[in-house]
Amino acid sequence: MSQEPVIDSNYRGRYAPSPTGRLHLGNLRTALLAWLHARLSKGQFILRIDDLDTPRNKLGSIEEIIADLQWLGLDWDEGPDIGGRYGPYLQSERIDIYDKLFEQLKDTQQVFPCTCSRKDVHLAQSAPNAGQIESIYPGTCRPTGNSPNLPTTHRKPVSWRFLTQNISITSQAVFAQATTVELEKTVGDFVIRRKDGLYAYQFATVVDDGLMGISDIVRGSDLSDSIPRQLALFDALGFSRPYFLHVPLMNDAFGKRMAKRDGSNSLDKWKSEGRTPELLIGKLAYSCKLIETERPISCHELLDRLTFEDLLRNISAAYKPVVAIYPV
Ligand SMILES: [Zn+2]
Repeated sequence: MSQEPVIDSNYRGRYAPSPTGRLHLGNLRTALLAWLHARLSKGQFILRIDDLDTPRNKLGSIEEIIADLQWLGLDWDEGPDIGGRYGPYLQSERIDIYDKLFEQLKDTQQVFPCTCSRKDVHLAQSAPNAGQIESIYPGTCRPTGNSPNLPTTHRKPVSWRFLTQNISITSQAVFAQATTVELEKTVGDFVIRRKDGLYAYQFATVVDDGLMGISDIVRGSDLSDSIPRQLALFDALGFSRPYFLHVPLMNDAFGKRMAKRDGSNSLDKWKSEGRTPELLIGKLAYSCKLIETERPISCHELLDRLTFEDLLRNISAAYKPVVAIYPV
């Protein structure tokens, strides 16, 4: 008689892809690592679709994502296809939820309307700091102490920015040094609702992770810059902070980061040549040294062979350099 796994009811992990095209092998490896992390913790695993950026969504992408993850052998306890008590699991169906929490930030004067264009923000900045990708907001539309916070009418469309004054964020992602940043100086007041009314990624993802009780976030290391902003939003909305594990991204055959638009690293080619999920899991697992030699293996066999400590140790060992994997 097999023993039932002990469920750690506190662990809730998730994988939250955007339906902007077919998942590539790098996305699938991140999904596999997030799934292993959750299952080795005997926790819940949630599939959520981050489809808020409607102009970038591709028709049929959600169905493809679900089919690809299922083909790989991954499973989840809650998701758009099976529902769950924290749903809906499509961000596009959660707008009223974002509206409510956005109002909460407005009521507590943690956001303010801004009419600046991207160019205004860029021009107002005297000299970008080294390595800085985005311009830091110079505070042009920030409410001042004596003026009313919110103008009653806006002639121009406004975006809404999160006020970062006097906020310092100390964080430590796994495999990274603890850092403290002054939000105002490093990212500045950032947009949480765009001029076209769409909620920004940073806001929607924190609202969802907070309300869905996500405790552990395993995702690609390209998102590590988001940590201070997201932690500030977790704090501002009264959610407890999750634990982050950022995993390495995969490069393509040419040493470039895989991109969905490229398509050459999607499962299409893999499947069309009759290759099995086990072959792919073996390739992905071997690339982060979860198995010693490359061989076909199912995700459940992989799960049985690993401990949580193995997973962390091996991801850590594989963190540098990033290994190139591609269908050959
Ligand atoms: Zn402004």
